[in-house]
Amino acid sequence: MDQVDRLERREAIILKPGSFSGPVATPAHDHGAGARSGVVNAMTVDVEEYFQVSAFANIVRRADWDRLDSRVEDNVSRILDLFAAHDVHGTFFTLGWIAQRHPAMVRRIAAAGHEIASHGFQHVRVHDQTPAVFREDAATTRKILEDIAGIPVRGYRAASFSITRRTPWAFAELEAAGYAYSSSVYPIRHDHYGIPDAPRFAYRPEGAGHLIEIPISTVNLFGRNLPCGGGGYFRLLPYGVSRWAMRRVNRRDGQPCMFYFHPWEIDPQQPRFGSVGLKTRFRHYTNLRRMEARLRAVLADFAWDRVDRVFLEAGHGAGPNREES
Ligand SMILES: [Zn+2]
Repeated sequence: MDQVDRLERREAIILKPGSFSGPVATPAHDHGAGARSGVVNAMTVDVEEYFQVSAFANIVRRADWDRLDSRVEDNVSRILDLFAAHDVHGTFFTLGWIAQRHPAMVRRIAAAGHEIASHGFQHVRVHDQTPAVFREDAATTRKILEDIAGIPVRGYRAASFSITRRTPWAFAELEAAGYAYSSSVYPIRHDHYGIPDAPRFAYRPEGAGHLIEIPISTVNLFGRNLPCGGGGYFRLLPYGVSRWAMRRVNRRDGQPCMFYFHPWEIDPQQPRFGSVGLKTRFRHYTNLRRMEARLRAVLADFAWDRVDRVFLEAGHGAGPNREES
């Protein structure tokens, strides 16, 4: 079987609709008033600098990263304080590049009881790598993070949700690199990422052993998946819309949400790049000033925990292979 055949065959299996059932959501912990729907959601942070986002890749060269002002430690400090104030634990998908330069920060995150997971070494999108290079990068980054944090690293999130139809091999490579789960698919239509017809809830991609994929949350309206799992959409839409959508996932779908944001999103003072296009400027800079207050609200309005505890641990019903009948 040649390479293209193999990829297409895997893709067909991965995307076959209705062949997956998500975890049965049960509360992992009682977080008091936050646990209104009885569903505990997964809170995640993609730990990277403001200049490492893929939308700036054409403006900021990797070779210049070390010359730019670092903001990540201050922003992560504020996030740790926010989480502590709400008694929330989360998962921090961290770049290997960041961990090597800020090892004390990584240890501080782990010491506060959060999960350390991998965001790859230096934010290269999956489709810009060969399968072998991708596997090597994922394995090396896991080792870097484990050595620094002193705890096992089980989760991976691809740069810019770049596991798409072009890279169906990525799941098997992550399994081979020692990961237990991935959260790298956004089941929406977007110009830079997304698999619009991918399963909306945790599933086991065919050919990837025990690895599970936990997609970013969407709400299904009129047969279309709309994003509600954080990031730019959470900043751009009114908070009430996000809250409604996430409650709908918890109550109607009976599923935990997978939510994410970045340290630079709570940093309106970050240095700005003047030469970025209008669309990127809008997506990156809009509502940075409102983000921290919104995070406080979402931390208070929902129950949250680390990805491994919400989706992987026994006794929480998170068996992605469980057949719905
Ligand atoms: Zn990222």
